[in-house]
Parts: sequence; structure tokens; C-alpha cells
Amino acid sequence: MAELEGKVAIVTGGGSGIGKGAALKMAAHGAKVGVVDRDSERAKRVREEIERAGGEALDLEADVASADSVRSAIERAASRWGRLDIVFANAGINGTWTPIEHLTEEDWDRTMDINLKGTFLTLKHAIPHLKRQGGSVIITSSVNGNRIFSNIGASAYSTSKAGQVALMQMAALELAEHRIRVNAICPGAIRTNIGENTNKTPEAEAAQIPVEYPEGSNPLAHRPGTPEQVAELVLFLASPRSSLITGTKAYIDGAESLLIG
Ligand code: NAD
Repeated sequence: MAELEGKVAIVTGGGSGIGKGAALKMAAHGAKVGVVDRDSERAKRVREEIERAGGEALDLEADVASADSVRSAIERAASRWGRLDIVFANAGINGTWTPIEHLTEEDWDRTMDINLKGTFLTLKHAIPHLKRQGGSVIITSSVNGNRIFSNIGASAYSTSKAGQVALMQMAALELAEHRIRVNAICPGAIRTNIGENTNKTPEAEAAQIPVEYPEGSNPLAHRPGTPEQVAELVLFLASPRSSLITGTKAYIDGAESLLIG
């Protein structure tokens, strides 16, 4: 079913993991997809995979923490296809996980710049295009910062993820009159490449408070989720099937966060 036929989407962090899964899924359902990633090779591979499957895509190298970079990526997609309907603001890093007293200003800024400012910049530069016909914005937050606060060391990450939800709620109300819906997804553990952008220090390991739960499992499936499972939720929130849903956060974690939150 091509429920996104005629729609144009951009996906930040579209070269890997959750973003890649959503880019492939939305393209398979008819959307033209701008795959935005700071890793141009990854974005190119996803673009090629979409094209091999008969879809249409652009690979767009951009750093979401840089206003010029993200604006020009959005402009390229919107001008190539003449519109923008769907924005998946998903690029993010775990960054440095360490106790607050060890966390450097640079580490804090890096996490905030990519995860929170990057979301703001993506939204800001997409709005003029979305306003023309309405649209859907989906932001990747996390169980961390919303339900889980026991990952000691993850203060910057969790704060950035909580901030995204506040921004989402502000935007949902502000943009409702333009028929732009804004929602957040809060994944639990998903098997992706995020480990590459994770710096968990020995101090963070030492500061953990032991909590007992079945190691490595979520109560529903007893294993991490997959990007494909998350992509189904993104597709739903992107499509008209979710036409009354805005200002909402959706947990997708097999109830992991209810157990360890
Ligand atoms: P991933 O590392 O597999 O993919 C992230 C992609 O984003 C990479 O291709 C990377 O190059 C890109 N990226 C990173 N910084 C960027 C920047 N400044 N500009 C442009 N692109 C950038 O990781 P993932 O797990 O798919 O992460 C996607 C989102 O999901 C993140 O926001 C993350 O916080 C969130 N999340 C992940 C999990 C999980 O368990 N994997 C859980 C909850 C939330």
C-alpha cells in the first residue's frame, strides 16, 4: 500500500539504524526521501538501496548541529521535489556517559548540539516548507530522560532527550494551525550502530546503582528491538492514519522502561 505516494520526507541520521530503517520503510510506501547524514557514504548507500527497490531518494551530507548545513540539505530536498511533507528528526549520539562531576563542558555541549540543537535546527528550517500544505514531524527522543533515569552517567543524553519532548509539545501547539503535527517516539534498546558514538567512562560504570532485572531483555521480547519495528511506528505517525495525533510521545520498548524506569 503506497500510503505516502506523492509525499516528500527527510530523515536525519538516515544513514544508519533507526533513521535508515525509517527511510527504507517510507520509501517503500511511496515517499521520496532525502537521506540526511553527516556520514556521506552511509547516506549514499541508503539512497542506492532505496533506488534498487524502485524508490526515489537523495543523499544529503549534513551536520544537524550546523544551521547552514541542515538548512541547505532541507532546501535541496524541497527544491528537487517541490515540497516537503514529512520530517523525521532522528540524528543523535549517546555521547559521553560519565558522572556529572567528570562530564566536561565540551562533552555536554557536543551532546546538546547534536541531539537538542540539531532537532531545533531541523524543525526550524523545515517549517517554511511544511506550512505550505501541512505535514508531520517525528522526533526521536528516548526512554532515557522520559521514563528511565537510572542510567547513571547519561545526564547530558537524558537531558537532551527530555528537551526534545518539551520542544515537541511546544511545536505541536504552535504549528497546529498550519496542520503540522509534531510527535516524539521514545525507543528502548534498539539494535543499531549507536555504540560507535558512545563513550561510557570507567567512572560511569563504577557509579551504577545495582538494579535487578533480566539482563539484556525487554519484558515483551527478551531481546533488543529492531529498526524495522521502530520504522512501523514512524510510518504510522507520518501517514494520514494518525491524523488526530499530535503533541504525543510514543514509547516503543516492549515495556522495558516500565520495568527499569
Ligand atoms: P546510529 O548510530 O545507528 O545512527 C545514527 C546516525 O546519525 C548515524 O548514521 C550518524 O552518522 C548520524 N549522525 C550522528 N550525528 C549526526 C549529526 N550531527 N548530523 C547528521 N547525522 C548525524 O544510531 P541510532 O540508534 O539509529 O540512533 C538514532 C536516534 O535514536 C538517536 O537520536 C538516538 O538517541 C535514538 N535512540 C536510539 C536508541 C537505541 O537503542 N539505538 C534508543 C533510544 C533512542
